Amino acid sequence: MERYETLVYDTVLSTLVAVLIYVLLKVSVDGYRQWRARARVLVVGSGPVGLTAALIAARSGKVERLVLLEERCRTALLSRPQQIALDSRSVRFLLGLGVDFDNMEGCWHNEHFFTKVGVFQEYLLSLLEKRKQEMNIQILLGTKFTEEYLKKIPASEFPRVIIVCDGSCGESSSVLGISSDYIVESCNAYGANAALERADQRQVPTPEIRAHSLYFDLSAYGVEFASSSKEGQGSQPSALKSGSHLKIYGTFRNRYMALACPMSDSKVVKFLRHTPNSSIMKNIFHQSFNAYKTDIEPRVNDLTIHLLQCSRRLFEIMLSHRRVTAAYIEGDNVVVTIEGEAARVLNFDTGCGVNLGLNGLESLEEFIYKVATAADQNDVFEALSGKIRHSKQLADDFRRNGLTVTMFQ
Ligand SMILES: Cc1cc2nc3c(=O)[nH]c(=O)nc-3n(C[C@H](O)[C@H](O)[C@H](O)COP(=O)(O)OP(=O)(O)OC[C@H]3O[C@@H](n4cnc5c(N)ncnc54)[C@H](O)[C@@H]3O)c2cc1C
Repeated sequence: MERYETLVYDTVLSTLVAVLIYVLLKVSVDGYRQWRARARVLVVGSGPVGLTAALIAARSGKVERLVLLEERCRTALLSRPQQIALDSRSVRFLLGLGVDFDNMEGCWHNEHFFTKVGVFQEYLLSLLEKRKQEMNIQILLGTKFTEEYLKKIPASEFPRVIIVCDGSCGESSSVLGISSDYIVESCNAYGANAALERADQRQVPTPEIRAHSLYFDLSAYGVEFASSSKEGQGSQPSALKSGSHLKIYGTFRNRYMALACPMSDSKVVKFLRHTPNSSIMKNIFHQSFNAYKTDIEPRVNDLTIHLLQCSRRLFEIMLSHRRVTAAYIEGDNVVVTIEGEAARVLNFDTGCGVNLGLNGLESLEEFIYKVATAADQNDVFEALSGKIRHSKQLADDFRRNGLTVTMFQ
């Protein structure tokens, strides 16, 4: 009996030791495999989103080779005059990526950093160029991503991850055979945009100006003037101020304006939605600019009014977002993610557009890590579904709160 017990004890013990050794071995082999795992990454487009995506990839520690493509040449890319506004969330995100705002031309206001697209791109390019000493990075400016480009990549250099950041007019996803279908959804608001280009003005970063609860007296056009708090409220949340919301942004040379109001069927809104008289909208922007501009810039007058271009009437603000924002290309064993304005874009310029693109990149490092360390296809699909969920969440959040944050507050 005693011998039998000893035998059982020995068997249990040796099984336990064998299991323990197996688990330890597996954990260390998996750990070593994950630690060693690297993926080749291709970023298409060097706009603010593409360059930030490249920086994320470079810092992820999971990239074997990084190629950044841009169809424009360096001068064209870096001389883009538009201003971008980085909100506090984007600023925190970029600080985490090592962006030093003290070393970038721009200005701060209300926790936003205002700079020119070209300046931001040049700064990110310099960070990437510095990284070239530590890792394999190829920056190909003046090179377009096309079918021919793809065909020419040798099998041994073919990317495992392609990050498409080619902007709202890009066609790279079609080159990869990914559907260009968009879901177009209302943001439950109306808006209009204006641009004022004055070549004699300065091109330096300038804080935005916001004005709320504006009411326009259109009685001269036969529309009853209404300034009561009920007018214009429609179905908007009660916390939201009624009336229209105006933003003036951009540099003094390239001034932009955005006018938006929550959806309503007030008389003024209805009139501005359907009037065939485009001079009414122009007049509204003209008067609003002169009323809210900074003191140190000139007014728009009869001599300069022709420099003001604007929407003819109020239109419904819509968010278009891609049906497919991430995909797996089976034959080539490549995963693709679509970012920035290539993934989601508004038909209305809020003056904060770049942030929606940067928010999408918050899940990029995890995505690259998961794909690089994937043991099988299930892991790859899990990485893809996480990315798709995040992209969908962003579009939903923007439709719910985006205009409140960028325009109505
Ligand atoms: C007039 C105007 C004023 C604006 N003002 C503001 C503002 O005040 N604040 C703000 O936050 N945002 C503003 N925006 C929006 C902001 O510019 C965009 O949100 C931002 O540029 C989008 O970045 P992106 O990288 O997604 O796309 P993009 O900046 O469009 O970059 C895409 C890049 O991909 C390249 N590309 C395209 N196809 C290919 C290809 N096949 N191969 C290689 N490269 C390719 C393009 O050349 C381009 O450089 C403004 C936009 C405009 C047009």
